[in-house]
Amino acid sequence: MTSAVPTRVRVDACPGALQTHAAADGGLARVRVPGGALSAAQLRVLATAARELGNGHLELTSRGNVQLRGLPAGAEVELGARLAGAGLLPSATHERVRNVLASTLSGRADGGHLDVRPWTRAFDAGLCTDPALAELPGRFLATLDDGRGDVTGLGGDVGLLALSPDTVALILGGTDSGLRAHPDDAVALALAAARAFLAERAAQGSTAWRLTELADGPARVAARLTRQNGHFGVRGDVPVAPVTGPVGAVPQHDGRTALIGVVPLGRLSADQADLLAGLTAEVQLTAWRSVVVPDLAEDAVDDAAVDLFRTGMAFDETSPWLRVTTCAGRPGCAKSLADVRADATAAVRSGALPADGARQHWAGCERRCGRPQGGVVDVVATSSGYRVEED
Ligand code: SF4
Repeated sequence: MTSAVPTRVRVDACPGALQTHAAADGGLARVRVPGGALSAAQLRVLATAARELGNGHLELTSRGNVQLRGLPAGAEVELGARLAGAGLLPSATHERVRNVLASTLSGRADGGHLDVRPWTRAFDAGLCTDPALAELPGRFLATLDDGRGDVTGLGGDVGLLALSPDTVALILGGTDSGLRAHPDDAVALALAAARAFLAERAAQGSTAWRLTELADGPARVAARLTRQNGHFGVRGDVPVAPVTGPVGAVPQHDGRTALIGVVPLGRLSADQADLLAGLTAEVQLTAWRSVVVPDLAEDAVDDAAVDLFRTGMAFDETSPWLRVTTCAGRPGCAKSLADVRADATAAVRSGALPADGARQHWAGCERRCGRPQGGVVDVVATSSGYRVEED
């Protein structure tokens, strides 16, 4: 059976660091951060760029990437130079296609079969060194899951899911392809799947941005791959994505501690970023707009948590900030009917969120940009106030 698919008529204008988007509040640059992994030095470069070129904040996205807003015309040249100098722009031609979500705390804490950090580096390097893969859409997403099941369900086009220390499943468009590989061969299989997506898209004469937008995309891409890659296993269900990520202090294998804090509405100030950079050698950004501060000594955890808490980060899994998201809203989006960030913030601070624990997504118009996957209550701005829609 052939699935119904949308037809893309617009060009792929997904913003990057060099190809910025002209938002209502100035230029918007999106910096890809594969696996959410940022060194302290890179975080400082981003903080300084936000302060000197943008509006003083970094926005964390649901793909573990970072956005800068409020850039004046032409600032992308200076921004690009700074990012390249920090190793955040390894390929000008591939910068927008480096969307990679990796399991949180992989290799550091319990929950997975293996460490996906080497996969992240290898997949990114493989993307950037293949000229053909520069043609991937800016929305194309890879998920690298160590078996804890935290990122496989987050809407990836191509995904690796470790089933055991020796076996990895290839996930295509959110479904198990049945293809299996040894961990050492898994990245090559994922890269082959990205190439197969482009080949299938060309064969269908399509301009699809996502694998599931192709007619029978997962099945046809899998069929292209079986001719030369991997071997087949019994297809299984893929894990459902958790609605929130871990927060608080998490023990690591090496006796140290990782501290995970949620950044309210994903808006990290340059000062907060500098504070984070002073605590550790590297951080991990997650799909839930939280920041992992790993490798803390036991006697450093409390002070770090207090310092970050004072800046507004949340470490309590009952915090309402774990369940509220917004679109950009005013003043960044000309379509917005409200300043949804300010209104959602006021609702949280006044305790106006319902106590049932449901997630809310506040949007400035019916497009509902940034709406998370899964069950969400929509709070949509209209010309006469907000309309609340249960999922
Ligand atoms: S949901 Fe509407 S108002 Fe919000 S960012 Fe998208 S287009 Fe703009």
